[in-house]
Amino acid sequence: MPGCLAHPFHDLAGGLVIGEPNDRGLKQAPVWYIECGTVRTANRLAELFGTQSALCESGAPARSRIDTGKDVLRVLVEDERSISLIMARRAGHPAAHVCDHRLSMTSADQMGKACGCPSAVSGRQLVARSGLGPSPETRLVVKLAAAPDTGEFALTTSSWDFAEEASRAICHLRDVGCPAELRFRVMAGEFTTESGVQVRYSRPAVELDVMHEHP
Ligand SMILES: [Zn+2]
Repeated sequence: MPGCLAHPFHDLAGGLVIGEPNDRGLKQAPVWYIECGTVRTANRLAELFGTQSALCESGAPARSRIDTGKDVLRVLVEDERSISLIMARRAGHPAAHVCDHRLSMTSADQMGKACGCPSAVSGRQLVARSGLGPSPETRLVVKLAAAPDTGEFALTTSSWDFAEEASRAICHLRDVGCPAELRFRVMAGEFTTESGVQVRYSRPAVELDVMHEHP
């Protein structure tokens, strides 16, 4: 089972996470799970996706988890501010660094000052890999297009690719206006390391609504 969210949902209905499908066979690709803050929401979504809700065992309070069986979820964004793009290095030495890769948000006295991160993504990746710089913390708060009345769900990821896509999504939302539909896709693959170890990976991807791109 994929890990539970570490933070409380607060005013959210739940969260979106990538996990292995329940009825896993050989080479089954990962799918979207929806973690729900209430059993009522879980039951509603279980009916919608034709699946069973399972209690998430770790984490407190206990939450129900829905295996959607899908690698693509249609979602609605009601406001471009629902997309939060920050870079963060929360602990360690040198001191914590939180920014939007240009201006600092680390502390009240540094707020709005130039943070010193490289301007190019490749430069920021190099600094992050060396352990000295911040990594993306991208968060989208969305509604499910199939059941918008169930409330808002958060997707949080540290993927560099997703951060780039989310940045493009903000531009897209400014063009088409909100509310707008996006798609969350599970990107999954396998590669073999130099020492011959097979590694499976998955990350979330955000896709813009092709209906708007190609009218
Ligand atoms: Zn920075």
